[in-house]
Amino acid sequence: MKIAVLSTNRELYSTRRLIEAGEERGHEMLVINHKRCYMNITSHNPSIHLRGESITGVDAVIPRIGASVSFYGTAVVRQFEMMGVYSVNESVAITRSRDKLRALQLLSRKGVGLPVTGFANYADDTDDLLQMTGGAPVVIKLLEGTQGVGVVLAETKKAASSVIEAFRGLNANVMVQEFISEAGGADIRCFVVGDKVVAAMKRQGKEGEFRSNLHRGGSASLIKITPEERSTAVRSARVMGLNVAGVDLLRSNHGPVVMEVNSSPGLEGIENATSKDVAGMIIAFIEKNARKGRTRTRGRG
Ligand code: ADP
Repeated sequence: MKIAVLSTNRELYSTRRLIEAGEERGHEMLVINHKRCYMNITSHNPSIHLRGESITGVDAVIPRIGASVSFYGTAVVRQFEMMGVYSVNESVAITRSRDKLRALQLLSRKGVGLPVTGFANYADDTDDLLQMTGGAPVVIKLLEGTQGVGVVLAETKKAASSVIEAFRGLNANVMVQEFISEAGGADIRCFVVGDKVVAAMKRQGKEGEFRSNLHRGGSASLIKITPEERSTAVRSARVMGLNVAGVDLLRSNHGPVVMEVNSSPGLEGIENATSKDVAGMIIAFIEKNARKGRTRTRGRG
């Protein structure tokens, strides 16, 4: 098969590993920088061009779309779908998971465990918003943040009100969430391929840090997850319609709660922590499922 990884940087660990895993399995692999693609959306014969040439003969794409280029990146994925090219994660599924609120609403509708979460664009009554989520301590998140930036723990009502008001002053969308202190600064990344968790790791924040992001100095280790955690992760990916997903869970007193479902989960942390060939599993999934024109929207089921 001819499989394209949509990535802006071929040197990234995840991109390199996908190329390597595909070549090992006898496929023709290429990297396409989706930011550089341009396309004709009006013709009867939709096409994508890159550096003056039309991209042809691609059987499947693996989108690795960064959060900052979601809008254009998903448009490129959609164009491939219009051309009948199989995408391991569909554009609409990526869009669902990128909108944090929409994602939580979809998960909540399907009864997936979530931290109690409030959201406001303009809250006159900060006290009531706090009350709604059970009161301090709360975690306040900027909706646009990634890698733990804009995630604040407010331990008192006073601190929470000041942070919410400060964010509001910046015209930012904020989410207020029950603080799951029993998670002890750790979360669990479940890597889902198809309808299985193929690898899982625990990420522990550094001493005194409640955020477990590896970019913030957290460390990763192998973990055995419970059947409930496994089914929560698989269901979350399915609700989003993602075939490949990184589902982040916290262990709360009331069972696993989902923080986020990531549509371009990194391979470096998970492969190093588990010594598993996750890239190879993604390629194997494509071998089994890619068919021309199989771009039907799934998910939310
Ligand atoms: P980002 O998407 O920017 O990484 P997250 O919402 O995943 O932001 O939060 C970053 C980290 O902060 C999480 O991985 C988790 O360790 C911690 N965290 C986030 N929300 C909560 C919460 N409600 N309770 C406890 N810890 C949390």
